[in-house]
Amino acid sequence: MLSNLATRDVETLIHPYTQLAAFRETGPLILERGEGVWVYDTEGKPYLEGMAGLWCTSLGYSNRELAEAAYEQMLKLPFQHLFSGRSHDPAIELAEKLKEIAPVPVSKVFFTSSGSEANDSQVKLVWYYNNARGRPQKKKIIARLKGYHGVTVASASLTGLPANHTDFDLPIANILHTSCPHHYRFAHEGESEEEFSTRLAAELEEQILREGPDTVAAFIAEPVMGAGGAVVPPAGYFPKIQAVLDRYDVLMIADEVICGFGRLGEMFGSTALDIRPDSISAAKAITSAYAPLGAVMLNEDMYQAMLDESRKIGVFGHGFTYSGHPVSCAVAIKTLEIYQREDIVGKVRARAPHFQNRVTALEQHPLIGESRGMGLIAGMEIVADKATKRQYDPKKGVAAKTVTFAQEEGLIVRSLAGDRIALCPPLIITEEEIDALFDRLERALDKTL
Ligand code: PLP
Repeated sequence: MLSNLATRDVETLIHPYTQLAAFRETGPLILERGEGVWVYDTEGKPYLEGMAGLWCTSLGYSNRELAEAAYEQMLKLPFQHLFSGRSHDPAIELAEKLKEIAPVPVSKVFFTSSGSEANDSQVKLVWYYNNARGRPQKKKIIARLKGYHGVTVASASLTGLPANHTDFDLPIANILHTSCPHHYRFAHEGESEEEFSTRLAAELEEQILREGPDTVAAFIAEPVMGAGGAVVPPAGYFPKIQAVLDRYDVLMIADEVICGFGRLGEMFGSTALDIRPDSISAAKAITSAYAPLGAVMLNEDMYQAMLDESRKIGVFGHGFTYSGHPVSCAVAIKTLEIYQREDIVGKVRARAPHFQNRVTALEQHPLIGESRGMGLIAGMEIVADKATKRQYDPKKGVAAKTVTFAQEEGLIVRSLAGDRIALCPPLIITEEEIDALFDRLERALDKTL
């Protein structure tokens, strides 16, 4: 029996990423308030938030400073846009801060409201850049199978997951995919991580040569793949990929939407994994998700090309009403201040060994074929047979069952396509809370057996 509120939900809302038919029976989990790493449903039941919302509420749920930053900005100047040369203090200050902490030299920052809009803008900027550089044929962008970059038409095309393409008539032209760097699933028998990385870089090079290097513009990757299963790249992967891109003058775009702002124990995932991006997408933890904001941070060469193009054709015809929304920018400035003041990156480094020990220990569980992670992110592979890595019939929805049992235990985790479980708690999680998370998850896995 659904509650009154749940019934009203089912009758009125379309939920993102939800099996719409099954949902009519189960109804929603309705959450009402949050505190620290905990959220509470309408009955007052606490859940440990093992996913930081959607990989985003890095400072947890009850940070007054962030709420006050938003409130004060709303009273002072709730909205102003950046179109046609208009500006405001919070956007300027935030762009300066981002340039200061960026993992590579950044020339300019373009604001969006989300990660999808940031990656959509990346596609357009890459095309604009190569038109400006007089290379109108250099337009293909290579993303990776199982990569996740969002859901707008262009960013969903970059995403390499079937659910984002099937029956949406995607991907669009000029977007290609290369192999997923998941050693457990895709390495050959006996292949080391280094050998696997070498093979994937060689595959990418073959793909670029097959397509014609003068048609390939950019490569986009998350440092650690999120929605594709919290996949940590094999040893040596990014330097080998980067060398191929350099050879053919292909831009590297780092999608730091999840990994940015401390998740991997460095301010950016690019630093943690040896990526030298030409352009970076950020969102989510940029405001600890207290307000919607995304950013594209691009290098001087890309900016100079845009300037040239603008001199040629006039207005740079791109931008959102909420590009650089002052309230979101004020919240982001405060978020970055807290990260620095409280040494959040140092805290992640201090907690990560214990978190990852508990991640690795899950491989003892009969259902878990591989349990992997880095910093404060992790993914588990549920298998029917550990020796052969055989998966359950997807119709059984085994990972989804684990998520339901976890909820019974007072824990929120996320199931991903291919019977995977993801963990990505708020970065403020304590050692005791890490233990509570894994104790609950282990009980949920036992129930799933
Ligand atoms: N890029 C990555 C790596 C993501 O994980 C996500 C969302 O989960 C996006 C882009 C899309 O961001 P948004 O949902 O804010 O549009």
